[in-house]
Amino acid sequence: MNDGALLDAVAAEAGWMEELLVSLVEAPTTLGNEEPGQRVMEEALADCGLKVRSVPLDADALRSAEGASPFSWDVSGKRNVVADWPAGGGGGRSLILNGHIDVVPPAAEELWARPPFAAAREGDWLYGRGAGDMKAGLAAMAGAVRALSRAGYAPLAPVQLQSVVEEECTGHGALQCLLDGARADACVITEPHPDHLTTAQVGVLWFHVDIAGVPAHAARASRLGVGAVEAACAVLAALRRLERRLNEDPPPPFDALEHPINLNPGVISGGDWPSTVAATCTLSCRIGLYPGQSPDEMRALVEGAVAEAASEDPRLAQRPPRVRYDGFACEGAVVDGEEPVVRALAAAYERVRGERPGLEATTATTDARHFVRAGIPAVCFGPRAENIHGIDERVSLRSVVETAQVLGLFIRDWCGLVRGPGKEER
Ligand SMILES: [Zn+2]
Repeated sequence: MNDGALLDAVAAEAGWMEELLVSLVEAPTTLGNEEPGQRVMEEALADCGLKVRSVPLDADALRSAEGASPFSWDVSGKRNVVADWPAGGGGGRSLILNGHIDVVPPAAEELWARPPFAAAREGDWLYGRGAGDMKAGLAAMAGAVRALSRAGYAPLAPVQLQSVVEEECTGHGALQCLLDGARADACVITEPHPDHLTTAQVGVLWFHVDIAGVPAHAARASRLGVGAVEAACAVLAALRRLERRLNEDPPPPFDALEHPINLNPGVISGGDWPSTVAATCTLSCRIGLYPGQSPDEMRALVEGAVAEAASEDPRLAQRPPRVRYDGFACEGAVVDGEEPVVRALAAAYERVRGERPGLEATTATTDARHFVRAGIPAVCFGPRAENIHGIDERVSLRSVVETAQVLGLFIRDWCGLVRGPGKEER
């Protein structure tokens, strides 16, 4: 299949991809609510002519797996949707295409111009929570495979498409696919990373600091009470000092970024009455870590910062805050720029876009780390999105088609394609 025919075949799937993306956005697949989205993917992948199956999450297997994160919630009944595109010949290189179905909550629904799960289209933009991160990527990878399979081709080595859960909190969907035996010569994750390939990423640690106060009537607060909410501010200040130290001398490739390690106090909850001095406060945070640094090392740094706050502040010293872990505890990952998958994907990109993509490091984590840990080079590349995790998230529909075209060329070059009875084409 030559470049022109392939690009045309993929472009012809634009309407199908947009329809799939709309159905996916209209399924509000926040944590615990992923199943309606997985049903949409199951149907779409079957419609691509693929064999679709479920990979259920197994809490015990996950808890004892290398690379797992602690989690307190129930995962029973959750599943990944996996589609196998079997090899129609021999000799090619195998591939995993991966995307996550889960989305983060809308942040503040009242700030959105339209309801976050309404999938509104305006010009080239499709709006909605998860439109960019990363349902457009799921639509693009399915569209690429659909185009090739409908044109009568099969890969020379197996291709597996994975629609996974829990990327936004632990990565346990992707990890479960690997526990299920998924292996390939390379993995491409169609996260919304346009105009470049992402070959390095930080790790992430979630931690929760429980701070105890002494409740009292607000009228006698100065004599009797110790406010947990205000004490939490001292803990946060110590954590910010840790963050500053971590950004002082970043190792490459993160030295190219202005502020690679970000501490985010994402949730704070405490107290129960305006006229009562707050008895408790919990500060839930996310912090990044460099590749090579283990989650345990970061735990020690976080606990050190919290202990430092406690030693300096009499409100905390008497009842030292407790640090708990629930959610992300993952290492960073780096893939060498000379890896064959990076070169092949970059070459496919260049033929569609007319220029070579840069190789970049991201200050976020993705499921790529699980594949890298398993010895499978994994790269992120995908559609152009704006405001992911923010308000009025949107994705460019043209970029969805372009992503699928790059993937189509890449699949042809990486896996090799065969058409009809044994007529091999590269
Ligand atoms: Zn994502």
